[in-house]
Amino acid sequence: MRKKTQLIHGGIPGDEQTGAVSVPIYQVSTYKQDRPGQHRGYEYSRTGNPTRFALEKLAAELEGGTAGFAFASGMAAMTAVAMLFKQGDHILMTDDVYGGSFRLMTKVLNRFGLTVTFVDTSDLAKLQQAIQPDTKALFIETPTNPLLKITDIKEAASIARKHGLLTVVDNTFGTPYWQNPLALGADFVLHSATKYLGGHSDVVAGIAVVKDPQLAEDLHFIQNSTGGVLGPQDSWLLMRGMKTLGIRMEEHERNAREIVRFLSDHPAVASVYYPGLETHPNHEIAKKQARGFGGMISFDAGSAEKAANILEKVKYFTLAESLGAVESLISVPALMTHASLPAERRGNLGITDGLVRISVGLEDVEDLIEDLGNALK
Ligand SMILES: *Cc1c(COP(=O)(O)O)cnc(C)c1O
Repeated sequence: MRKKTQLIHGGIPGDEQTGAVSVPIYQVSTYKQDRPGQHRGYEYSRTGNPTRFALEKLAAELEGGTAGFAFASGMAAMTAVAMLFKQGDHILMTDDVYGGSFRLMTKVLNRFGLTVTFVDTSDLAKLQQAIQPDTKALFIETPTNPLLKITDIKEAASIARKHGLLTVVDNTFGTPYWQNPLALGADFVLHSATKYLGGHSDVVAGIAVVKDPQLAEDLHFIQNSTGGVLGPQDSWLLMRGMKTLGIRMEEHERNAREIVRFLSDHPAVASVYYPGLETHPNHEIAKKQARGFGGMISFDAGSAEKAANILEKVKYFTLAESLGAVESLISVPALMTHASLPAERRGNLGITDGLVRISVGLEDVEDLIEDLGNALK
């Protein structure tokens, strides 16, 4: 099955009993047992729910894993994966990860004795040097947010494996339509399904997919024990959104390419960050490991003032955090998504005050370009 077909016919595509072509929303907490301890596969909805299971099966198939797990948010999914480790374990993490991932590691999980080092994982030599005797996991985000740096997943996972580390990849920006980290050697894939998978700015959800059956069992144990599961309504809504992931990603990318071309030629734009640009430092790796470059673009407007001015003038770009939806979104990372990073850290990473990030939506690209053109005047 090819990707777009899999998005529509994969998982559990409907209801056997009635022929309903959409999976029913099993709005239920508990299940009647035939005899004490003898149930029909479901006993309590934290442990398992048929609507959630249909989503989890679909996610596992799309990422090529043995099992998928749906959580109440991307951060809940990441927390659950982190719970597989223990006090004293060290985790290596991409340096410009999502701000919430940085916060989780440095302000929450540090209290439980997990330690973390942030490293530019797009530089494999630096990655290798940062491995310590107690390092147990490599956590990669690629492409990153907001600078769209790319880590070579296959090479990084191979270094990790040699040192006995598990590799976790946050595939939120890539989506399973463009990029499949498990096939490149990763052990876990994470998604903020709030973004492209849902795609309509109407649901907060997280997904984890695992390759190894034992690790899948371990993660199910954590999911059931800590309980941050996705409810049946949201599971259904997410599957509804995912059916169009393929055509949406194709169109996001088509629009992004045109906007990148426009911005690159514009005199008021200092630099444009997009992995599909041949001048992007990791362009070749992006081309090798993903089938597409995605719909996220960042550009430097020159100063915080100029960036703020653009954000105030645009009509079709909604000033908001988040990404991956049908509507185009615009933000200034230094003031919004990455405000929780200390200013010095932002500076070191290259997240300037004038950096503008756009999540290209599915509007007519001519309107989007006109809008940006007016705002840049
Ligand atoms: C949004 C996001 C998250 C967090 O997901 P939530 O669903 O908001 O909890 C994690 N990683 C990346 C790359 C994100 O963009």
